[in-house]
Amino acid sequence: MTDYKIHIIDTQYHGPLPIATFLVESSKGLVLVETSAHSTLENVKLKISELGFDWKDIQHVLLTHIHLDHAGAAWCFAENGATVYLHPFGYNHMNDPSKLLKSATMIYGDLMDYLWGTLKPIPADQLVIVEDGEVINILGLDFKSIHSPGHAKHHIAWQLNNHLFAGDLAGICFENGVVIPPCPPPDINIEDWTNSIDKVLAIQEIDTYYITHIGKVTGDLIGHMKKLKKTLKEYAEFLLPYFQNQTDLNQTVQEFKRYTMDRLKAEGLSVKQIKDYEDSNSAIGSVQGILRYWGKKLGAPQ
Ligand SMILES: [Zn+2]
Repeated sequence: MTDYKIHIIDTQYHGPLPIATFLVESSKGLVLVETSAHSTLENVKLKISELGFDWKDIQHVLLTHIHLDHAGAAWCFAENGATVYLHPFGYNHMNDPSKLLKSATMIYGDLMDYLWGTLKPIPADQLVIVEDGEVINILGLDFKSIHSPGHAKHHIAWQLNNHLFAGDLAGICFENGVVIPPCPPPDINIEDWTNSIDKVLAIQEIDTYYITHIGKVTGDLIGHMKKLKKTLKEYAEFLLPYFQNQTDLNQTVQEFKRYTMDRLKAEGLSVKQIKDYEDSNSAIGSVQGILRYWGKKLGAPQ
């Protein structure tokens, strides 16, 4: 087996959400898992050079999904010759990002550039679609693709021996062990997410998660995922009556915010820690994501 070392890079994103990329160093070269946003590229380059490497030596990039905080800088590595591995449903958006860019610009407006940067097309011959269960060997390392819809329909968790690059599958978790699910539109699906969690938990050899927001989770992985599944279900149940009653969006967001803050308070977090969690997971995003889920599942409320 080829030896490897995983470097966690905090990309020092200037928004409220901490974002990591993971540099896998093997004796045969470098693999990057997640690229973070285009707006953090200079930070990532700097951190890679501080680790003693040249970012230009990265010729293989694995994406967990194509949201801008995970895949936004993939095109820069591709311009430098890298091959990008991704889910079949993410392919079109990376090959022709015009739609993705347009919808993000509609949401973020003038802040788009500052928050996320831009996107450019990745040529077809540098994009590799990876099917569920497929193992790809890169520089002597076997990465197994685990399709894991729920947060996004184009989500892959990548297994490398006992390590799992979980993307957003295992939620947002800071050092104190509290986990919350990021639920932005348009793909949130509670049942799919729960099934994806169970799929990963069934893989006995995995003992460490590398999560993009942010870091390493070890120890009680079953407990971590159980909490996440429970929170997901309860978030959705909380918002169901708001969906059914077609409550005003602002009011829904305010009440959801109070609800999630109370939950964090009950976990024993400090005011600062609660704020960090709240800021990292936009309430309006989660409300819209979960209301959309209910709409798809139940149809328009009568
Ligand atoms: Zn995401």
